[in-house]
Amino acid sequence: MNASSQEITPADLADLIRRKPRIAALTGAGISVESGIPDFRSPGGLWERFAPMEYATIHAFRKNPAKVWGLLKEMDRIITAARPNPAHYALAELEAKGKLLGIITQNVDNLHQAAGSKKVVEYHGNAHRFVCLNCHGQHPRESLDFSQVPLYCYCGGLIKPDVVFFGEPIPREGKRDADHLAATCDLLLIIGTSGEVSPANYLPGFAQGNGALIVENNLEPTRLTRTVTDYFLPGKAGELWPEVMKNLDS
Ligand code: NAD
Repeated sequence: MNASSQEITPADLADLIRRKPRIAALTGAGISVESGIPDFRSPGGLWERFAPMEYATIHAFRKNPAKVWGLLKEMDRIITAARPNPAHYALAELEAKGKLLGIITQNVDNLHQAAGSKKVVEYHGNAHRFVCLNCHGQHPRESLDFSQVPLYCYCGGLIKPDVVFFGEPIPREGKRDADHLAATCDLLLIIGTSGEVSPANYLPGFAQGNGALIVENNLEPTRLTRTVTDYFLPGKAGELWPEVMKNLDS
């Protein structure tokens, strides 16, 4: 743990939330695990079957799109079946109460939006959208036949989910909005991210450098806990966040 970081209870976190006027959240795969979407790094996660450098780089996709579609089809099946869990709803409620400026999410599953969150920065894109790598035209999911992968646009370009592969830049708007939230919040709630993926993992340090307090909720301490976290809330997001909200209302 960061020398000065300490564990926090849902009740104490509710108190902190009450006192802070400019709160933002940074979420990762862990917040959607209880919705049935495995994260990548935990035991049983997708990286056990699909090595990232073989399946998740833009280079791998261009070189052998049929192979990479093995992972993409599986992700699509899992993501389209998933529904928001209580942690997603808690963040939507926090925003509706005027307590949350916005969410920066590394997730591509659209579950924050499905839960009712309005200000969601899609740092890594959204797997519900599909785009041509050549002409950048959008393709509605319903128009695509997943039994015929790889998929090609009318222009001949490769179609891929509108998500950021390793080796691709962060969308300009996503980066701008994420930087703005991180620079202006006074409390950053980190939920379900290991902090291993760059450049998203610079955001907590950036927020802290701009004066924000950092609260982290993960199952176990991470590299963020050791470096930037002020308060650590250990445990499952879907169980803890309803507790935080209950305390906030009482
Ligand atoms: P990660 O897999 O590296 O880390 C997940 C973190 O969440 C871990 O620290 C783990 O302890 C924690 N966690 C697991 N279950 C939890 C729970 N129930 N409650 C609270 N915490 C829990 O995830 P990452 O840091 O987001 O990096 C993975 C990358 O892969 C992201 O960039 C993301 O784009 C992508 N991804 C997205 C999805 C999705 O959209 N749902 C799923 C898998 C991966």
